[in-house]
Amino acid sequence: MSQYWSPLVSTLSPYVPGEQPKITNLIKLNTNENPYGPSPRAVAAMQAELGDSLRLYPNAESASLRRAVATMHAEHGIREENVFAGNGSDEVLAHAFAALLKHERPLYFPDISYSFYPVYCGLFSIAYEQVPLDEEFGIRLADYAGDAGSGAGAIIFPNPNAPTGRALPLTQIEALLQQRPDIPVIVDEAYVDFGAESAIPLVTHYPNLLVVQTLSKSRSLAGLRVGFAVGDVALIEALTRVKDSFNSYPLDRVAQAGAVAALEDHEWFEQTRQRIIASREALVVGMQALGFEVLPSAANFVFARHPQHDAAQLAARLRERAILVRHFRAPRIDQFLRITVGDEAQCEALLQALTAITQ
Ligand code: PMP
Repeated sequence: MSQYWSPLVSTLSPYVPGEQPKITNLIKLNTNENPYGPSPRAVAAMQAELGDSLRLYPNAESASLRRAVATMHAEHGIREENVFAGNGSDEVLAHAFAALLKHERPLYFPDISYSFYPVYCGLFSIAYEQVPLDEEFGIRLADYAGDAGSGAGAIIFPNPNAPTGRALPLTQIEALLQQRPDIPVIVDEAYVDFGAESAIPLVTHYPNLLVVQTLSKSRSLAGLRVGFAVGDVALIEALTRVKDSFNSYPLDRVAQAGAVAALEDHEWFEQTRQRIIASREALVVGMQALGFEVLPSAANFVFARHPQHDAAQLAARLRERAILVRHFRAPRIDQFLRITVGDEAQCEALLQALTAITQ
C-alpha cells in the first residue's frame, strides 16, 4: 500500500503464475510448457530478424502473422480480417474482456477454470458468475443456455478446460451458440491441439463467437509471447480498438517472424504434439496403476488425485525429488495435482518418484 496508488490498484487480486525457479536440473512440470523446443525454422527466422531492422517499429497490425493464421484456416472461410494477434493469449484475452465481455449482466464462466478470468474481471470491473462444474468436473453447457443461463451477459470457457484437461465436443459448443446468439461467447483454446476440436470452423456461422489460441503450448513458444483470436470482423475490430488504445505494437519484429515460421512448420508441430499425446496416454496408464484417479485429458497436462495421499504433501515430496508440479489450494480441487506432460524421460522419472512416494 502506498499513498501514491490509484484506488483501483488496492482492489486488485493479481494472478499468481506458476513458479519459474532459478535452480537448474529441476523437472519442471508445473506450468504446462512444451518439453520440446520450438520449430528450428522458427528459431532461424528469429535469428534472421536480429539486426539493423530492429531500429524500426514492427508492423502494428501483425499482418503477416494474421495472414498465416488465416491461411491455416482458409478452408473454413477465415481471412486476415478475422484474425487478431496479441502478446500472448493472456493479452488477447485481456483485450477481449474489455472489448466484449463487459456488459450490464454478469459474465459466466466455470467455477473451476483458468484463474486469470476473475483477475481480468477485477481489473475491468466486470461482474461475473462462476458456474459449477458437474460431479465429474465437466462443463455443463446447459447451465449457460435456457433458463439457467438467462442472466448471462457473456460467456467464456476454455476448451479443453484448465486445470481439469476435460474437453467438450464441438457439437455441444455449437448447440450453445445456437441457443445464445444474443451474447458474446469466447472459447479459450490454449490446449486444443493436444486432443480437442477447435471451434474455428464455426466462426463464419456465428458472429458472436471468438476463439482464442496461443503459440505457448503446442508451438513451444511460451517465451516469445504470441497469441491470437479468430472471430467475426466486428469482434476483431472491437479488439483492435482496445489494442490501439493500449499498445499499438504488442508484437515485436522477432515475435512476428518466429510466430509465422512456427505456424508454417507443420511437420515439427505434428511430430512434437503426437509425442506429447503418446506420453500423456502412457503417463495416465502409469499413474492409474499407482492408484491415481486421473481425469480424461485432452491437454498437455493431467489432473489427478490419489485416494490415500494428500495432494499438497505429494507435491512437497515430489519437490524434494526435484520435480515441480502444480497444486491449487482451492475448493473442490485441493486434493488434485496438475502435472504437465514432459518428455519421455521426464514422465518416466515422475512415475518412478510417484512409485517411491506412494507404494
Ligand atoms: N488460457 C489458458 C486456459 C491458459 O492455461 C493459459 C496459460 N497460462 C493461457 C490462456 C495464456 O497463455 P499465453 O498467455 O502464454 O498465451
